[in-house]
Amino acid sequence: MALSDYSFVNLASVREDLISKKISASDLVELYLKRAEEEDKYNAFLEVFSESARATAASLDQKIASGETIGELVGAIIGLKDNLCYKNHHVGASSKILEGFKSLYTATAVQRLIDQDAIIIGRLNCDEFAMGSSNENSAYGVVKNPIDPSLVPGGSSGGSAASVAAGLCMASLGSDTGGSIRQPASFTGLVGLKPTYGRISRYGLIAFASSFDQIGPFTKSVDDSELLYKIMAGKDVLDSTSSIKPIHKERSGQSKFTFAYYEEVINSPGLHPKTKTLFLEKIDALKAAGHKVISTSFPYLEQLVPCYYVLTTAEASSNLGRYDGVHYGARSEASEDIPSTYFNSRTEGFGPEVKRRIMLGTFVLSTGYYDAYYSKGQKVRRLIKDATDDILSKADFLISPTTPHPAFKIGEKANDPIALYLEDIFTVQANLAGNPAISVPMGMTDEGLPLGFQFLGKSFDEKTLFAAASLI
Ligand code: GLN
Repeated sequence: MALSDYSFVNLASVREDLISKKISASDLVELYLKRAEEEDKYNAFLEVFSESARATAASLDQKIASGETIGELVGAIIGLKDNLCYKNHHVGASSKILEGFKSLYTATAVQRLIDQDAIIIGRLNCDEFAMGSSNENSAYGVVKNPIDPSLVPGGSSGGSAASVAAGLCMASLGSDTGGSIRQPASFTGLVGLKPTYGRISRYGLIAFASSFDQIGPFTKSVDDSELLYKIMAGKDVLDSTSSIKPIHKERSGQSKFTFAYYEEVINSPGLHPKTKTLFLEKIDALKAAGHKVISTSFPYLEQLVPCYYVLTTAEASSNLGRYDGVHYGARSEASEDIPSTYFNSRTEGFGPEVKRRIMLGTFVLSTGYYDAYYSKGQKVRRLIKDATDDILSKADFLISPTTPHPAFKIGEKANDPIALYLEDIFTVQANLAGNPAISVPMGMTDEGLPLGFQFLGKSFDEKTLFAAASLI
């Protein structure tokens, strides 16, 4: 078969093609390296790891030839968001402050993929330190949406979304603190999963807000999402918040579900008309297929986004304290003593959105305001968690559109942080409550822009989440 004819169906079929020697791992790597190097018109890749990808492919081909047992991900060409560590490779969270930094170890999630013979092809652009909803906050420029390059791909994992949507890699990893996997997946027509908090080890993920962050996959199908999830999930001694709960082997056999949605969401004036129509059509289809759909309301809808921004900025201000030009981070040339080293390194190294969040976070944690903001935010988070559990005691899933509208124009909201923060209205609940959630494509606008449908499930019940997601 001619190399250029190779088309990607799903990760399991790639494995079969390698085993049956239809194609070799080296051929596949050459094909994808060429694409990533020559066809990335979207600024998705910050760096292509050609040398290590070629070396891995050569050793896989040898393994296959010698009849050794091969991993579940043999031939899978996977890109990493630029906040996931891969030993001896650059990683920088798309920030100037980490320019030139090389990982000293590999993130557990990445290592588990490598152990199953995945090939890591490169690192992908994102919003600086994963803060953003449009990938316009990267120190290395905005990422363009492959569906229409005048539009944003979503964020913060914009490069992870664009690279898979454009066929530059087969799947990618991102991180989701408040929607950074699900929202870009929705904007680019992909499946994006945020697992339950604690399900996938965060070891080797550059921290943004540690009690919210989760790693997850971008894929073209629910099957691939589940495959990558199962490989990455599970206890890791290097992350004490990772859970010991067992990982499912089989997808849940449950075939009839109860879905709940918020009445307020459907009637919200901010909803794009097509988002509303498609979402209602899906509800009708679910009902017609024998599922139960109930409408409910959520007492804290207005508190979701403010609570998220109080708590995540607080955690970010603490996590980013390590970048001072001494412990971590590029040191300013204008350093004379300790204060000027800290001040100048941070002034030069961090972009405006990161600075804004550090200042906000420092403010909500400061002595005079701690009780008014941070402690109150923690209490509100508990109320949100309890109210979410309450809904999920009456329904299997909470459903909503993933985003209120499709991808927007580059620059359209860049000067309006509040408008961008409101992008997260449907996605942050899962991170505040810790529950798993998945976005799957639900259709397109008349202009051909994809929209996502989100399922938010019970904690640690991904096996039912995948079963439901495959219905749409
Ligand atoms: N858009 C959200 C934010 O800016 C989500 C980011 C994320 O999930 N990493 O914080």
